[in-house]
Amino acid sequence: MERRARGWDTLAEMPPEHFDVLIVGAGLSGIGAAHHLQTACPGKTYAILEARESIGGTWDLFRYPGIRSDSDMYTLGYSFRPWEDAKSIADGPSILSYVRRTASDDGIDRRIRFNHRVVSAEWSTADGRWTVEATRGDTEETVRRT
Ligand SMILES: Cc1cc2nc3c(=O)[nH]c(=O)nc-3n(C[C@H](O)[C@H](O)[C@H](O)COP(=O)(O)OP(=O)(O)OC[C@H]3O[C@@H](n4cnc5c(N)ncnc54)[C@H](O)[C@@H]3O)c2cc1C
Repeated sequence: MERRARGWDTLAEMPPEHFDVLIVGAGLSGIGAAHHLQTACPGKTYAILEARESIGGTWDLFRYPGIRSDSDMYTLGYSFRPWEDAKSIADGPSILSYVRRTASDDGIDRRIRFNHRVVSAEWSTADGRWTVEATRGDTEETVRRT
C-alpha cells in the first residue's frame, strides 16, 4: 500500500528509507538499546522494526497467570532506570509496564515501526550499509529500509 500510494510499481523502484541504525524488536533489549543509542549518539537517526503491534516482547506476549521474572529486577532491569518496586522478583504486568514507561518517557515509542517483521538483511561492502526487508503484518507488503 505504501509503495502503490506513492506511485512505485515494484519494490525495487522504491527508494528505501535510510536510518543510521536499525534496531530489530521492541522488547526489553530493543528499548534498552534505543535508550543507550539516543543518549550516547543523539545525532544518529534510528528506527525500531517490531513484528508485533505492541511493545514489550516476552512480557507482552505471555499473559498466563503467575508469569514472573526468574531473576531479580535489580539486575534484569535497566541500569539507567533502577527498579523501584518493593518486589524484586516481579510479575509480568509490572515488567511490561516498566518497559512501556521507559519507551514513552524517553520518546522511544515514537521511533517504533510496528507490524514490521524483518525477513532479510543484506550487507553491501561497497555501500557500507545493510538493506533490510520487512513484511508488514497489517498490509502484507514488503518494505525496505537501509
Ligand atoms: C516467564 C519468563 C521469565 C523470564 N525471566 C527472565 C529473567 O528473570 N531473567 C532474564 O534474563 N530473562 C528472563 N526471561 C527471558 C526474557 O525473554 C528476557 O529477559 C527478555 O524479556 C528478553 O528481551 P528481548 O527484548 O531480548 O526479547 P523479547 O522479549 O523476545 O523481544 C523480542 C522482540 O523482537 C520482536 N521480533 C522478533 N523477531 C522479529 C523480526 N524478525 N522482525 C521484527 N521484530 C521481531 C518480537 O516481536 C519481540 O517484540 C524470562 C522469560 C519468560 C517467558
